[in-house]
Amino acid sequence: MTKGELAGRTALVTGGASGIGAACARELATLGAEVTVADIDGVGAKTVAAEIGGKAWEVDLLDVTALEELRLDTDILVNNAGVQSINPIVDFPPEQFRKLLALMVEAPFLLIRAALPHMYEQGRGRIINISSVHGIRASAYKSAYVTAKHALEGLSKVTALEGGPHGVTSNCVSPGYVRTPLVDKQIADQAVTHGIAEEEVVERIMLTESAIKRLVEPEEVASLVGWLASDAARMVTGASYTMDGGWSAR
Ligand code: NAD
Repeated sequence: MTKGELAGRTALVTGGASGIGAACARELATLGAEVTVADIDGVGAKTVAAEIGGKAWEVDLLDVTALEELRLDTDILVNNAGVQSINPIVDFPPEQFRKLLALMVEAPFLLIRAALPHMYEQGRGRIINISSVHGIRASAYKSAYVTAKHALEGLSKVTALEGGPHGVTSNCVSPGYVRTPLVDKQIADQAVTHGIAEEEVVERIMLTESAIKRLVEPEEVASLVGWLASDAARMVTGASYTMDGGWSAR
């Protein structure tokens, strides 16, 4: 990937104020795209946008009704915003289940729906959905998250089929555990739950299935997103790219 490769393109990254989203916003800007950082955290979105010379959009993507009339003039859409919630099914609050599905399935659907008309007019576009190894594998106590990510993988494939004739590709990037605030919180919570040190949580609980025993870095995920956004990836669609240190090879 060369600097300036995405010059003249616009990109929208949801959840772009933190973690993987912020890394994607930086990568796409480095490649030349004009990036809009969309996040419920308005201050964080402005900070990242200022750093990369992009725009900030403070938005609560849980307000799905407000997204129904939206039209997005963006060439690249990265559906990244997401949260985690851990509980056995019997104790899982139904409201929380609905929230995760709204943020991680319904909002991406509405944003894709809002972005496709512009992409169809241009005859090209890139939809990149940040799924997870949990889009193709399950873990106990993550019913809403695993359900949402599996649904996102399906939505991405349908988008690929409909978008193909219009030059629009749609793919998922499916990482294992990435070093971000979302995972830092899980490490701290699990250390308390299991009564063990945080390093032990990473080695003994999070990375048991991985062949490579380290967390993924946000920049590594962003690098793949940058490539998927490029012209070189124009024949790549309906795919799901794992970056999980070999977890899903089992
Ligand atoms: P993060 O917590 O660092 O960032 C998530 C961002 O989403 C935050 O900036 C947050 O403000 C924003 N957000 C949350 N709710 C929102 C809402 N209602 N409206 C708008 N924005 C909202 O998390 P991350 O680890 O960077 O995760 C980003 C994506 O990557 C998520 O979809 C997550 O499921 C996925 N993912 C993460 C990992 C990991 O290990 N960190 C692994 C696989 C997949």
